Amino acid sequence: MSAPPVRTRRLSLLSTGELDRARVLDTLINNLDGMAYRCLLDANWRMIFVSQGCLALTGYSADELVHGETLGWEDITHPLDRARVRGQIESAVALGQRFAAEYRIRTESGQIKWVIERGIGVLDEQGELVLEGFIEDVSSQHALLQARQQAEERYRSIFEHASEGIFQTTVEGRYLAANPALARLYGYPSPEALMCSLDDIGRQLYVKSSQRERFRQLMEVHGEVLNFESEVYRADGTRLWISENAHVVRDAEGRALYYEGTVQDISERRRYQEELERQANHDMLTGLPNRILLADRVEQAIARADRLGYYLAVVFIDLDNFKFINDSLGHGAGDELLKAIAARLQHCVRGTDTVARLGGDEFVLLLSDHFRASTVISQLRRVLSEIGQPVMLSGREFHVGASLGVAMYPADGEDSDTLLKHADTAMYAAKNSGRNTFQFFTRELNRVADERLNIEAALRHAIEHDELEVHYQPKADHRRRIVGVEALARWIHPEYGPISPDRFITIAEETGLIAPLTTAVLRRAFAAARGWNRQSAAPLRIAVNLSARLFLSGDIVAHVAGLLQEAQLPPALVEIEITETVFMGDSDAVVGILRDFKALGVQLAMDDFGTGYSSLSYLRRFPLDIIKIDRSLVTGIEHEEEVAMIARAVISLGQSLRKTVVAEGVENPAQFDFLRFQGCHEFQGYLLSRPVREHEITELLQAGGVLAAPAVRPGSGFAPLA
Ligand code: C2E
Ligand code: CA
Ligand code: CA
Repeated sequence: MSAPPVRTRRLSLLSTGELDRARVLDTLINNLDGMAYRCLLDANWRMIFVSQGCLALTGYSADELVHGETLGWEDITHPLDRARVRGQIESAVALGQRFAAEYRIRTESGQIKWVIERGIGVLDEQGELVLEGFIEDVSSQHALLQARQQAEERYRSIFEHASEGIFQTTVEGRYLAANPALARLYGYPSPEALMCSLDDIGRQLYVKSSQRERFRQLMEVHGEVLNFESEVYRADGTRLWISENAHVVRDAEGRALYYEGTVQDISERRRYQEELERQANHDMLTGLPNRILLADRVEQAIARADRLGYYLAVVFIDLDNFKFINDSLGHGAGDELLKAIAARLQHCVRGTDTVARLGGDEFVLLLSDHFRASTVISQLRRVLSEIGQPVMLSGREFHVGASLGVAMYPADGEDSDTLLKHADTAMYAAKNSGRNTFQFFTRELNRVADERLNIEAALRHAIEHDELEVHYQPKADHRRRIVGVEALARWIHPEYGPISPDRFITIAEETGLIAPLTTAVLRRAFAAARGWNRQSAAPLRIAVNLSARLFLSGDIVAHVAGLLQEAQLPPALVEIEITETVFMGDSDAVVGILRDFKALGVQLAMDDFGTGYSSLSYLRRFPLDIIKIDRSLVTGIEHEEEVAMIARAVISLGQSLRKTVVAEGVENPAQFDFLRFQGCHEFQGYLLSRPVREHEITELLQAGGVLAAPAVRPGSGFAPLA
């Protein structure tokens, strides 16, 4: 098989001294992996010499190639590569340069091999231009390279076409790489745009900015994060939920180089989960929370009540006629009724309260944030009256009543189960006591509720029969001259005796009786003021209290205007006292009403100033004329530096805003002197006069309108500061 070495003329012509070198060269050449050659620059690349490696490389013997008349290197070169290789070689030769060409050959057995040919054009012994060079098999390197290229392309393709977002970021939170899927996920037109816009992932991407820090900590501790779920912002500000899997890439010394990982959109799964949760926690018919969620809410509400020191009421509701309707009209009508009741109950509660349905016709209310039992009672009465409204079912009108049982936290139970059980017990008591009513679990509260109901009925009666009285408390200037009076409602119950306005005004506000009550007080006060002003030359102003609830009701300004008209009283003589509660509502609406009052010509006073939180800002924003410093800021003014300081600040603020400053609850000369020297304009309190009947004011005015000089107690006076 192995062909004898072919010697060229050149080798055989060498001298003896050079022969050894030629032999060494010969051995070398013939033992190299590959084929040394000399060939003609003709159309067929005919070989003049090839080394023994020829056989291994091509499968042809050296003889076949060198002496065979038909076989040239051109034939062995792959047809597709021939033109390119020839071009490459010819241009190198023309420039006298070496060349290196990579191409395929077809071996004798038909196998395709990749070779690299390195050579140069030289002049042979006859001065003819020939090629000399070396051709070696690089098929295996080529395959390797190709494999690597293909792998890289594959990875790039995965990166580019993956449906998951893929990223590399610095530890600090800057993107090093992002794929198109990530850009799409986050709403950017391209990965480049994403990388440009998001240069602080921690602050810009996560909705909860602490998320990035958690991510970083997990990476530090575990070197990876798995299914790390977060809510993130898209480029347009909308949000989506993602899950991240990532790991740290480290250098040889173990230092963190960067993070690398994938991102999946899990919004859909989240929604699905939420929907499942909703279904598990809600009653399907009415959409209300069910027993499971209710228990949860009760526990939360207990924690809240503990924190804020409020009461919590758990109210068990059972409809009185449900079974009858369900049986006689069918389940469809029954369902309609339950849905209607659910909607009404939701209408009766506040945002912090819960309405739940336990099944059948059993509902539960969870009422939070009550700081006294009486407001719970008012709310229960509203619930009963809402449920009692007629319902249309199958074209007919029905009246449904309900029995309510109430358990209060903390008195009637410390946990959800106990509270519900006791509310249920109370509900049965309500059913037994004649339906369409409520019962507390605790007897004492039932007594309070009864009494309260009695007072409410009596108040209604008193208002209807005009049995409320109005007393007037003078307001004086610094020389104790009466400049005005405040009208204060009084109610003396034939059985309970005098009832404090703090008590009955609250009840009136909770039951809606405040409107007729206020009308009655204003009517009397305006008439009295008209009378006093007719008699005396100096104008006497009349101050009336307007409850916040009424203030915000639709036509209050027109209503007051009507009463003024009726009494023939100039509006300039009237001061309307309102409390800060008014300003907690919709401030545009409030400003509108205040402006309308101003336009009517009455003065506006802020009552109980200093008891709220942000009083100062109200003063600047709203068009008020008078500030009444609350009694709590006057009590102790003479011996508590802090109280004195606040009062001083309020007075000087009032002055700088050009408001009339009135002090209420002035009980002793020391307080009077202090306030006077601070520049307070008007004074009201027991020191000057208690609230008195109308005729007593008339007498005071007739006597000159100056209130008796207080007896100065030694040692209680203030040194004038002015
Ligand atoms: P208010 O508007 O702050 O009325 C001043 C209250 O302080 C009156 O209590 C008055 O009797 C009392 N007072 C006056 N000077 C002194 C004093 O030197 N020392 C002490 N300790 N108390 C003094 P009253 O009459 O019990 O009224 C309580 C609250 O009831 C009033 O507080 C007002 O908010 C409300 N109110 C009374 N009448 C009406 C009314 O007709 N309509 C409305 N909406 N509320 C009213
Ligand atoms: Ca007042
Ligand atoms: Ca007051």
